[in-house]
Amino acid sequence: GEDARSPHVVLFPFLARGHIPAFLRLAVHLHALRPGLAVTFVSTPCLLGSLSLPATSPPIQLHALPFAPADHGLPHGAESLADLHVHQFITFFQASESLRPAFDSFVSGIRSPVCIIADAFFAWTADVARERGASHAVFLPGGAFGYAVFFSVWVHLPHTLKAGDEFPLPNFPDVVLHRTQIPRHMLAATGADPWTAFFRRVISSCRKTDAVLVNTVEELEPTGLDMLRTSFGVQTWAIGPLLAEPAPSDSQDDTSIIQWLDAHPPRSVLYISFGSQNSINTDQMTELALGLEASGRPFLWTFRPPVGLDPKDGFKPEWLPAGFEDRMAEANRGLVVRGWAPQARILAHASTGAFMTHCGWNSILESLHHGLPLVGWPLGGEQFFNAMLVVEWGVCVEMARGNTESSAIERAEVAEAVGTVMGETEKGEETRRKAGEIARAMAAAWEGPGGSSAVSLEGFLRCVETSVR
Ligand code: UDP
Repeated sequence: GEDARSPHVVLFPFLARGHIPAFLRLAVHLHALRPGLAVTFVSTPCLLGSLSLPATSPPIQLHALPFAPADHGLPHGAESLADLHVHQFITFFQASESLRPAFDSFVSGIRSPVCIIADAFFAWTADVARERGASHAVFLPGGAFGYAVFFSVWVHLPHTLKAGDEFPLPNFPDVVLHRTQIPRHMLAATGADPWTAFFRRVISSCRKTDAVLVNTVEELEPTGLDMLRTSFGVQTWAIGPLLAEPAPSDSQDDTSIIQWLDAHPPRSVLYISFGSQNSINTDQMTELALGLEASGRPFLWTFRPPVGLDPKDGFKPEWLPAGFEDRMAEANRGLVVRGWAPQARILAHASTGAFMTHCGWNSILESLHHGLPLVGWPLGGEQFFNAMLVVEWGVCVEMARGNTESSAIERAEVAEAVGTVMGETEKGEETRRKAGEIARAMAAAWEGPGGSSAVSLEGFLRCVETSVR
C-alpha cells in the first residue's frame, strides 16, 4: 500500500497546450526520485483525451474535471487556449476559475496526505490546499525572469505612470522596459479591467503557496529567481529544464519533413515557428517571406494563418507573395508546413542550424537544449521578457517585436538578422558558441543526483514530506 508519509501528488496544469509537457516531465522526475509515488494528473476531459504520454511516462492516474465552456459564452468543447481567439482569452481565464468546486471535491476525497502542484494560473488552488490541509506548490512552466517581469507589470502597470517610451519597473528599477515590450492587453489595462483583476488575484494567491517551482536552471537565472523570491516571499526551486518528450510519430507529413531536412547539410536550415497560439500579420508575412528568400539560406517555416484568423478556416494563397512557394520548392530552398510541425524532432535534426521563434519558453528550452541560437520575434505575454533574457545570455538576436499594425518589419532586416546568426560572422560564431554553453549548463542541471535541478526537486520533496509527517 501507500506509505502513509508519502504524499499523493496532484498535478494541475493550466488549460493550454504549451503548459502541459513540463508537468508531464515533472511526473517523470518525481517518479525517478520516489518510485511508487502516487501522482494524479488533473485536467478537463478533452485535454486528457488528447494527452500523448511520453514513452518514459511513469504510471500516472488521470482525473477529469467537468468543464462547460458554453456556460461562459465560449464555444462548446473549447478546453484550451489553443481553441480560442485572442479576444476570448480573458473569458476563458475567468471560466477556468469555475473548476474550483470540482477540484475541491476531488482533493477532499483523497485519503492520504495531498501535495497539490498547480500551474500559476491556477494559484487559487492554494486556498483549497489550506482548507483541506494539503501542502501546495505553484509551478511556473516558463522562465523565472519572464514570469517575474510579467507579474510585476500587472501589479504596477508602470506604463500608465509615465508618459515616455521607456520605464523602469517600480519594484525592480534595474529592469527597464520599452513600450514596445508591453503586450497589447497590458497596454490597454487601466487597473480596473478584467485582465488586471485576474492577474492580481493570481499574484495574491501565489503569496499563499508553500513553495514555487520554476522550469529553469538556478545557475542560468539568478536574477529572475531572486525577483520571484522577493515577489512571493516563499521558497523557490529551479527544477528545469523540463522538456517535452518528442511524441513518437509515423505520420506521412512528419516523414516528408524529416526527409526534406535529411537532404540539407548539417546546421544549414533555419526553422521558423511562432508557437501554438501566436501569429504575425499579413504585411509582416510578406516581408518575412521575401527576407527569407533574400537571405539565401534554406528554411523550414511552420505556417499559421495571420493574427486574428482562425486556422480552422483554411489557408489562403494570397498570404504569401505570388510564386514564393513554387520558387522555394524548385530551388530546394524552403518548405512551408501548414499547421502543426514535429518541432522537437526538427530541432533535434542535424541539419537544423537556428530557430526563428516567438520566444515561448518551451521553444527557447527546446532550441538551446540542442545548442541552437535564436532569431527572436516576441509577440505576446511574457515572450518580450523571455527575449530580453536570451539576448542577455548572448544566444539571440532580437529581430522584431509584436504583430500590431505599428510593428513593421522590412525584408532587409530579416535577411540581415538571419545572416548574422547563421553566417560566418564574429557575432554569429559567438552566438552559436554561447548557445552551446547554455546547452551544457542545461544538461548539467539534471546530470546525476548532484545536478542543481535534481538537488532542488529533492529538497522540495523533503520539505513536503516533513510537512505531512
Ligand atoms: N509546437 C510543435 N509544433 C508546432 C508548434 C509548436 O510541436 O507547429 C510545440 C513546441 O515544440 C513547444 C510548444 O508547442 O513545445 C509551444 O510552446 P511555447 O512555450 O514555445 O509557445 P506557446 O505555444 O505556449 O506560445
